Amino acid sequence: MKGDPTNLGFSTRAIHAGQPPDPTTGSVTVPIYATSTYVQEAVGRHKGFEYARIQNPTRSALETNVAALEGGRSGHAFASGMAAIHTLMSLLRSGDHIVASDTVYAGTFRLLTQVLDRYELHSSWVDSSDLQQVEDAVIERTRMVYVETPTNPMMGITDLAAAAEIAHRHDAILAVDNTFASPYFQRPLEHGADIVVHSATKFLNGHSDSLGGVMVARHEEHEEWFAFMQKSAGAVLGPFDAFLTLRGIKTLGVRMDKHEESGRAVAAHLEEHPKVERVFYPGLADHPGRQIHEKQASGYGALIAFDLGSEAAARRVLDRVRVLSLAESLGGVETLISHPATMTHASIPPEERARVGLTDGIVRVSVGLEDLEDLLADLDQALTAV
Ligand SMILES: *Cc1c(COP(=O)(O)O)cnc(C)c1O
Repeated sequence: MKGDPTNLGFSTRAIHAGQPPDPTTGSVTVPIYATSTYVQEAVGRHKGFEYARIQNPTRSALETNVAALEGGRSGHAFASGMAAIHTLMSLLRSGDHIVASDTVYAGTFRLLTQVLDRYELHSSWVDSSDLQQVEDAVIERTRMVYVETPTNPMMGITDLAAAAEIAHRHDAILAVDNTFASPYFQRPLEHGADIVVHSATKFLNGHSDSLGGVMVARHEEHEEWFAFMQKSAGAVLGPFDAFLTLRGIKTLGVRMDKHEESGRAVAAHLEEHPKVERVFYPGLADHPGRQIHEKQASGYGALIAFDLGSEAAARRVLDRVRVLSLAESLGGVETLISHPATMTHASIPPEERARVGLTDGIVRVSVGLEDLEDLLADLDQALTAV
């Protein structure tokens, strides 16, 4: 494929953007450039590659690719989603303020409250599905509004265009963690966001075999800062992980379609199940954020939370599943089930969990690509223990 890929379809870009055939051999896949440095022709004369922390061709291919999928100007790949989010926060200075969704990824909550707080970078936590709360939390030093939509695990939805409008009116930027929806279903930059961040460990990789993070910028000053931070702080993604992530992204479209088809079926099944008290999934008719989600995303995704009423009931189901695997993480081919209160969200104080409605009976499922009948049968047999 030659030329500008931006007007091509999503899967065409996923397969080709940033990945022209290797110029020396014609190799159809981008090689894993396992090198720490690059020989220069003469002092100051090189091919755009000087040292592996600054640039690596395999990593560059992934960065170009994800930028093309999100519709941004540049991509920047990091050693993990948290490394990307940490780098994102380096845009701010001591004394600046962040307004953040109160149900962001627990690692992000920990980073902001236990690390960055020590550098006088303070955050206020709001239910960003209620935009009045976002507006009311803005202070003079607010420089960033930071949201996830849908949120983990409560599946809260934030109106991205409205959040961008509030942020911009106050001279702040909107940064969005788009890990749950993936660019296949939702592209926050199209709705006014300034920066998108991903844990590439999840749907982008999709096969649970690498860790990574990617940030996509739309403004030149952010592109320059993120490249400067890759060079200066160095939390970059290695070439082998970049290769695995690129390999995963080629099938992102077909995977997301199947994840979602099964996700909708599992959510509908759980909603009908007598042992399940409540199901949280943006595709259900009674989900409070459904209409806003439909305005800004083209699919509901594969993450479902459901309430079994008590921790004991949740534990019984988690002990009994056989096809579903008890594990943290999400977005891979295998269906994972977890107990947020004691696993992913254990670092969130119990009062805070209670405030956002994350009870001890809530179980989260990331629906994978196994046969749907096997997933439903396994959930049914596990639920008989309740
Ligand atoms: C997993 C995750 C992260 C952190 O990414 P790592 O790759 O595990 O560092 C951030 N945000 C969301 C929504 C996640 O699911």
